[in-house]
Amino acid sequence: MTASRGVVVIHYAELGTKGKNRSFFVGVLRRNLRRALVGLEVASIQSRHARIFLEFAAPLDDDLQRELRSRLGAVMGIATFSFATRIPGRPLDRLEREACELVERALGEQAREPGAGGGSVIRTFAVDTRRGDKSFPIPSPEINRRLGAAIQGRTGLGVDIRNPDLNVGVEVLPDSILLYGNREEGQRGLPVGASARVVSLLSSGIDSPVASYRILARGCRVIYVHFHSMPYTQRASVDLTLDLVHQLAPYQPKSELYLVPLAEIQRKIAVEAQSSIRVVLYRRWMVRLAEKVAAKVGARALVTGDSIGQVASQTVENLSVIEEAATIPILRPLVATGKEEIIRMARKIGTYDISTQPYEDCCAFLMPQNPETHVRPDDVRRAEEALGPMEDLVWDALARAERHVIPCVASGAIRK
Ligand code: ATP
Ligand code: MG
Repeated sequence: MTASRGVVVIHYAELGTKGKNRSFFVGVLRRNLRRALVGLEVASIQSRHARIFLEFAAPLDDDLQRELRSRLGAVMGIATFSFATRIPGRPLDRLEREACELVERALGEQAREPGAGGGSVIRTFAVDTRRGDKSFPIPSPEINRRLGAAIQGRTGLGVDIRNPDLNVGVEVLPDSILLYGNREEGQRGLPVGASARVVSLLSSGIDSPVASYRILARGCRVIYVHFHSMPYTQRASVDLTLDLVHQLAPYQPKSELYLVPLAEIQRKIAVEAQSSIRVVLYRRWMVRLAEKVAAKVGARALVTGDSIGQVASQTVENLSVIEEAATIPILRPLVATGKEEIIRMARKIGTYDISTQPYEDCCAFLMPQNPETHVRPDDVRRAEEALGPMEDLVWDALARAERHVIPCVASGAIRK
C-alpha cells in the first residue's frame, strides 16, 4: 500500500449484529462491492475489525469521489462510507497536523457554502479512534485526547462525544493510519444475496417499485416480472417498466426483467367472467404465472405493491382471494403504508417521475367499470371452472416472455 492510493472506509449496517453468520454477510457484501465497482481501478478490498477497506490504484480525485458516492450510495448493507487519507509509517505528529487540517478544510467549506450537504453547522467535533493494531503503543483514548486538544487549540471548536457536528475517524492499521472526516450515508439494510431470491410483480405504477426496493434492502435478490396486454395496449407501459428496472438496477449486482404477455388470458376472462370480479381473476393468473417464473429462477416468494384499501382489488377480502391462487408466500412490504409515505419513498429512489408518466394502463374492454370490493371465493371458483382448461394459454404466455438483463452499473459509467 502506498501513500498516493485512495482508501475508502466502509462501515456496514446490521451485519455487525449477526453473530456467527457475520462472515457470510461480509462475504456477500464484498462480492457485491466488486460488482458495483466494475471498471474502477480497485487495488484491494479487505475486511478487518468490522470495517471494509477499499483501496484504489489512484488517489480519490473529485471525479472518482463523485462516482463512488453514486455507486457505493446504492449498495445495500453499507451504513456509511468515508474517503480517507492514509498516513504511512504512523507518525503521530503528522496525524495531529493532518487531523487539524481536515477540520479546518471542513470549516472552510462551510464558510464558502453555508448549508452545503445538508449537514448541521459545525460547532462541535469528536475524535473516534479504532486501534485495529493492538500492538500500537498508544491506546485509543489517548489518541482521541491528543488529537482533540490539538484540534480544539487550532479551531476553537467544542468537543461533543455523543452528538458531534463533525466526527473525525482514525483507524490504526499495522502499517499506516487512516484519517477521515465526513461519513457519507449508505443504504443500510442487508447486502443483496444474504436473503432468498424473490420474484417481484412490477407494474409501471408507483407502489411496486417501492415494494421492490424495500425487499432489496432486506437482502433479497429481486427478479422482476411485468405483465403487459399488448397488442391491446401500446408498448408504453413496457418501456416504463424497463425504465423502472434501470432506475432500481444499482441496488443489486444484476437485475432481470421478464415481460410476460397476459393479453390472451385477460381476453378470455373478459369474455367469459362477470365484469365485477375480473380484476381479481387477472391478479390470480398473474400470481400463477409469476410462480412459474419463480420456480424457474429459484425464487422462494412473490412480492407485490399492494396496500390495504388503495384500490378495489386491495381490500383484505380481495387480497385473500388472490392469495389463494398462490402456493408460495406473497410478501407485501407496503401493506400498511399510506400513499403519502409511498410517494415520498418513490421520490427518494427516483422512480416517482417514471411511474407518473402517462400511459394507457389497459384498454377499456379489459377493465371493469365497477369492480367488486368483496369478491366471494365461491364466485371466483365458479368463474374459473367456467373458463375451462387454461394450461395452453399459460404455457404460451411463458413461452413468449421476453427476458432482459440489466447490470448494476450502466456501461456508459465504466471508466478504465
Ligand atoms: P402499483 O402502483 O404497483 O401499480 P396499484 O396501486 O396500481 O399498484 P394494482 O394495479 O391493483 O395496484 O396492483 C397491485 C399490485 O399487483 C402491484 O403493486 C403489482 O405488484 C401487481 N401488478 C399489478 N399490475 C401488474 C402488472 N401489469 N405486471 C406485474 N405486476 C402487476
Ligand atoms: Mg397499478
